[in-house]
Amino acid sequence: MQKTVILGAGESGIGAAVLSKKLGNDVFLSDISNISDEAKTILDNHNISYEEGQHTRELILDSQLVIKSPGIPDNIPIIDKIKESNIPIISEIEFAGKYDKAKKICVTGSNGKTTTSSLIYFLLKNAGFNVGLAGNIGQSYAYQVATCNYDYYVLELSSFQLDGMYDFKADIAVLLNITPDHLDRYNNNFDDYIKAKFRITQNMLQEDCFIFCADDTVTINQLSKVVMQATKLPFSINTEVSEGAYIRENQMVVSYNNDSYQMELSELSLRGKHNIYNSMAAAIAGKILKIDNHILRESLKSFRGIEHRLEKVLKIKDVIYINDSKATNVNSTWYALESIETPIIWIAGGKDKGNDYTPVLELVRNRVKAIICLGLDNKKLLDTFSNTVDTIIEVKSAKEAVNNAYNIAKPGDTVLLSPACASFDLFKNYEDRGEQFKKAVKEL
Ligand code: ADP
Repeated sequence: MQKTVILGAGESGIGAAVLSKKLGNDVFLSDISNISDEAKTILDNHNISYEEGQHTRELILDSQLVIKSPGIPDNIPIIDKIKESNIPIISEIEFAGKYDKAKKICVTGSNGKTTTSSLIYFLLKNAGFNVGLAGNIGQSYAYQVATCNYDYYVLELSSFQLDGMYDFKADIAVLLNITPDHLDRYNNNFDDYIKAKFRITQNMLQEDCFIFCADDTVTINQLSKVVMQATKLPFSINTEVSEGAYIRENQMVVSYNNDSYQMELSELSLRGKHNIYNSMAAAIAGKILKIDNHILRESLKSFRGIEHRLEKVLKIKDVIYINDSKATNVNSTWYALESIETPIIWIAGGKDKGNDYTPVLELVRNRVKAIICLGLDNKKLLDTFSNTVDTIIEVKSAKEAVNNAYNIAKPGDTVLLSPACASFDLFKNYEDRGEQFKKAVKEL
């Protein structure tokens, strides 16, 4: 029995608490905020003691292991104290991984994690695998390890989860891309963020596979600095690769271990260049797992995409309305703008995480006819684009944004909500922003 403290009563903390308790440990959960009633019920049902609204130092330091939720930053006083006391701090994924014999397909990247994890999960489900989907998505990994019995897991991993992982090993690791994001949590040091992402490859052996984007210069550069035993399988739109995936004459070509698969790009259900990357990554994982070509094709053709990611809402008077509320950084918005060929009325803005809009300037100049700034402070958008786009206005609600877009749009245009910013200034979260946008569109 180990005295274990869980920090944070979110999805991952509750899951870690339940698993730890099930393993017979002495478990105490501490959250600096209020704990939801739902979480309290689970804790009570499992006889797990907890505190809320505070971190009681003596109780926390009287432990042998701390499992920290990914949302808790490293630079708060209680974390310093735990480190000073030499108590190991790990993430929920690291913890649950020790008690799970399933094969693990792990997905990380700055953008595309949820899409690609869900797509790989869909593929495996269709192929009849006994598989769970966890990590940053849905029910926590630890909770599923405690209550289910899967042979495979697809795990969506953020850099914060990877930060607390040491002995964990992925059987297949997918690194989609690395662009600046969350730098506030990495002391504005991009190099630290890159290293965090590369933790997905740690401990991998020769029989394991590392799937990565050969067009991503940051990934390629880092790869040249590390020693890795795993089989490297690149995907690329720009160059042909011998093993992995690439594009030839509008066909996606995937090859692995003398087995190959081809598919017309037009058959892919997910639109946009970024989704070609995501689909290639998923298809390579599918080939490694020996999924039949027919199932691969049907799955990539029929996957319906995920809410708030380039989600088509409605077509009204020949104007398409797209909800891409999950685009919370400039890179994901670049791909949204890139994927739309009609004139665009772009709804952008929110809580800026230190955005540099230079990468989208060219696309905005060529495709965007109006910008609707949906944020409390729109100065950066106004400064950057006032000379590029004729119409640029400020609004304070999704409804106002949609009504203005409706008035500006002409048949054949697209209204795109792709904010490139977080949502916390005007909305609860990105889901709330997307829901409000969709509601306003439906009320037009
Ligand atoms: P994550 O889980 O990494 O945040 P999502 O799949 O939720 O990624 O997508 C987040 C945003 O990024 C969406 O706006 C989506 O359209 C865009 N996106 C998806 N895949 C990629 C990719 N490979 N590169 C860049 N942007 C992407």
